[in-house]
Amino acid sequence: MSDHQLTSTIGERMMALISELYPICRSITGDGVRRSLSILQRCIPLEVHEVPSGTAVFDWTVPSEWNIRQAYINDPDGRRIIDFEDHSLHVLNYSTPVHKKVPLQELQAHLHSLPEHPDWIPYRTSYYQKNWGFCLPDRLRESLPEGMYEVCIDSTLEPGHLTYGECFLPGTSDEEILFSSHICHPSLANDNLSGVVLAVFLARALQGKTHRYGYRFLFAPGTIGSITWLAQNQHRVQRVKHGLVIACVGDPGRLTYKKSRQGSAEIDQAAAYVLERSGEDYEIVDFSPYGYDERQYCSPGFNLAVGSLTRTPHGRFPEYHTSADNLDFIQPEALLNSLNKYQRVVDVLEKNRTFRNLNPFCEPQLGKRGLYSALGGRPDSQTRQLAMLWVLNLSDGRHSLLEIARRSEVDFQIIHDVASLLESHQLLEAV
Ligand code: ZN
Repeated sequence: MSDHQLTSTIGERMMALISELYPICRSITGDGVRRSLSILQRCIPLEVHEVPSGTAVFDWTVPSEWNIRQAYINDPDGRRIIDFEDHSLHVLNYSTPVHKKVPLQELQAHLHSLPEHPDWIPYRTSYYQKNWGFCLPDRLRESLPEGMYEVCIDSTLEPGHLTYGECFLPGTSDEEILFSSHICHPSLANDNLSGVVLAVFLARALQGKTHRYGYRFLFAPGTIGSITWLAQNQHRVQRVKHGLVIACVGDPGRLTYKKSRQGSAEIDQAAAYVLERSGEDYEIVDFSPYGYDERQYCSPGFNLAVGSLTRTPHGRFPEYHTSADNLDFIQPEALLNSLNKYQRVVDVLEKNRTFRNLNPFCEPQLGKRGLYSALGGRPDSQTRQLAMLWVLNLSDGRHSLLEIARRSEVDFQIIHDVASLLESHQLLEAV
């Protein structure tokens, strides 16, 4: 099988897993999350945590658990015009149970639609305010005749648990890299099944390999899930040296990196470097306290070096939070391209080191040590010689190899290779 065939298969396998997860009605709690996590458990070692409703997590409280069996609206003639079985977005997520007949006017107050996109179903939630409702295409809503409608939402909202999944792949050091994805959205493909599935494939690529960092993959409901995880792990959160929030990685748009609150942390440099060298269009934006769970990881008490690598950011594509964010909206090529970028960021972080030059008074005599001849015959030997001079000059214990690569505009891999060579000749020591 050629490389091209192999990689296209990975993109298609990512699509297949997204397709399997897509119909499930997920929320911030409940069986939809459990079912989704059990599917992920077939792919990666995943520990499932259950946190009881009512648990205090910083300023928040784990809410009651929501589950839904069925929901529908029958029109005045008894015809079923909306059925939850057709689409999980049809129900206001976290709707309280209801079963009654209501006149159209009363029903309208519980309907949500998008006049600007009359064929799409919007995604709406009401987690912290008790309410019931249905979401539907505006075209259908506009066609409803006067009369009495039977509404039924067979749901429960009771003390239970918040469920999240965690996959940890230990490294040779105690330091960790965190990858976090939100798993609370129902049938929405880009936001965020693409992120969930990218995390699974990244974990699979790292599994069984020796790596310096431990890799922690978190599959948790947005906001309350990351807050809960942070509350339960406050004592060891400082092991997280770098992190990325994974979301919206399957659309055809360009990649966007949102920096951590720190702004110039190693993760910020690594992500910027990978995008700069990609030869593709990209955007880098500063941190803002809006978006996904980077809001929690970058809250001032934690201030973790966690950024977010997405394609088109949330809210900036019209399909966002609607039924048009479906399996046709995402592409295997885009998923694979995003996965490759995450793998490159991991590669850079794994190889990035900071050294001290052990011969800092004038340049060491490289020829005498056979370091020029070590490069002889390579087509890029001049680049490598130059790279050695950059590494020797900037290795004062304060510049990482990544910083040297960006400043010298020599490829990071070459900078890494020559640093290893210089280290083996006792000209550098890692700090
Ligand atoms: Zn969302």
